[in-house]
Amino acid sequence: MRMHFPKDKGVKRVLMFVLWALKQMWCTIPKAMQQTQFAKRVSKIPVWLKDGNPLANHPWEEDPTATLPAETDCVLIGCGLAGCAFAYHWAKNSDTGKHLVTLDMGDAASGSAGRNEGLVVMGRYYHMVVQTVLPYLQSINEHIGGHSDNDLQELAKQFAAKYAASCYRNGDMIERTIREEGFDCDYAREGWVQARDADQQESLIESVEMGVKAGFGDWTSIGPDKVREVSGMTVRHNAGFSVAAASFHPAKWCWSLLQTALDSTSVSHFSQTKVLEVSDEDSGYLVRTNRGSIRCRAVVLCTESYTPLLMPEFHDLMRPTQTQAASGPGGPSEMKPHVGISGTRAFFGRHGEETMIGSDATRVPDKQAGKIQPSRFLTHYLCTELNEVFTPAKYKITNEWSGTVTYTPDEFPVVGSIDGHNKFIIGGMAGSGTAVSFNGARCIANRILGKTDEQDDYPEAYFSPRRILDPSGHHWPEIER
Ligand SMILES: Cc1cc2nc3c(=O)[nH]c(=O)nc-3n(C[C@H](O)[C@H](O)[C@H](O)COP(=O)(O)OP(=O)(O)OC[C@H]3O[C@@H](n4cnc5c(N)ncnc54)[C@H](O)[C@@H]3O)c2cc1C
Repeated sequence: MRMHFPKDKGVKRVLMFVLWALKQMWCTIPKAMQQTQFAKRVSKIPVWLKDGNPLANHPWEEDPTATLPAETDCVLIGCGLAGCAFAYHWAKNSDTGKHLVTLDMGDAASGSAGRNEGLVVMGRYYHMVVQTVLPYLQSINEHIGGHSDNDLQELAKQFAAKYAASCYRNGDMIERTIREEGFDCDYAREGWVQARDADQQESLIESVEMGVKAGFGDWTSIGPDKVREVSGMTVRHNAGFSVAAASFHPAKWCWSLLQTALDSTSVSHFSQTKVLEVSDEDSGYLVRTNRGSIRCRAVVLCTESYTPLLMPEFHDLMRPTQTQAASGPGGPSEMKPHVGISGTRAFFGRHGEETMIGSDATRVPDKQAGKIQPSRFLTHYLCTELNEVFTPAKYKITNEWSGTVTYTPDEFPVVGSIDGHNKFIIGGMAGSGTAVSFNGARCIANRILGKTDEQDDYPEAYFSPRRILDPSGHHWPEIER
């Protein structure tokens, strides 16, 4: 109701919604369904995983007698975008002689990393970050010194600048790594179009101007003709365009990173191994799993939306939020491949002969993290959105799935130490995991391995999880007036 009728309130909004819903049920959806078919058995396997997982059941597939080590230097929990990136960066420093054990309760890329849209995003744009961080700063202002409105605004801008700088570097590092390592993951850098309604035009102009002024020019605005040229989508108004966003096969990216790590001698990986508890010990941590316990000097959580289940102190601070997608053969032929395409309420993608559609951001209880429970009503609705901006065409949906992304209260990531020692987290990426995970993992690996000469893009004052766990005890950045 809020999405469709943001300006109406109370009874009027409900009435408008009921009328809209009836029209959807009796006219719009049946019309869209004239072109769309659902396979007899729609699979819940995400499109990226439908050809299997080369690291499934590792190492048990080849060595059923393998056992976890009793002790290691570092344990990484969760092998998605962030965890696989961490393993890669760790292995690149194998000259340190330190060993990493990576664990996942499923298989590598079985979480959201293997269920997403496949865009390598440049992060949320500068203006959007200011808009999410500012209300949070206002809500905790009494705990952080009672700043003036102007100072809070400045602080929010500082947050946005740190975030954007880290994401821009992250995007370039991903491109360079794929090229240098020769990863086969269908990478192409052709941008990301995001449609905007008439009443969002003012905000679009403001967001582009603000980003350019702050030195972050990736977020631009393009007219309807250009939108059609780059994406095939037909819109009536200007759209946002992230110039340097890319697309890839996200699961292949994760597997390539992890396989490269496993090719070194400094990383071991155990899938189907669920971490039940992480407890402090005198000289480090004890990681208890369903297959035994490991003592280690450092531990890194890359468990994103599952984090509150393992560490309840993150309940309500890392909020699992469901997003869903569907795909299958057919769909509009004018839809361009490789480019990110977002309508105002849905995303679309062309992958070979297949079309992907998706959307949603529904907060779910912690225990539903990672559950695959797509709503068929939403898939129908996404088909109507597809027909709004593309020429209706025959389309057969064969796969339909969902995943959970994670929002912190300020929608700003957490990349840093949880306990002030060697228990780290990389997460809270607000549905933009590709923008944070690679560079974030590099910086945390460097910190644990003592590589202080490398640039660190995640200063504790901004990215530390203490910011949300203990706002009054956190060391906030100086406000640059
Ligand atoms: C439909 C959809 C579309 C999206 N589109 C995009 C996009 O185009 N671009 C983008 O950047 N982002 C996108 N996202 C978000 C992106 O997928 C996430 O931000 C990203 O996957 C998070 O990566 P991660 O490694 O932190 O978490 P995940 O990929 O969720 O990995 C967490 C891993 O931790 C493991 N784990 C959890 N608990 C435990 C435990 N106790 N013991 C052992 N292992 C555990 C899980 O099994 C899982 O493999 C999308 C998400 C969805 C659902």
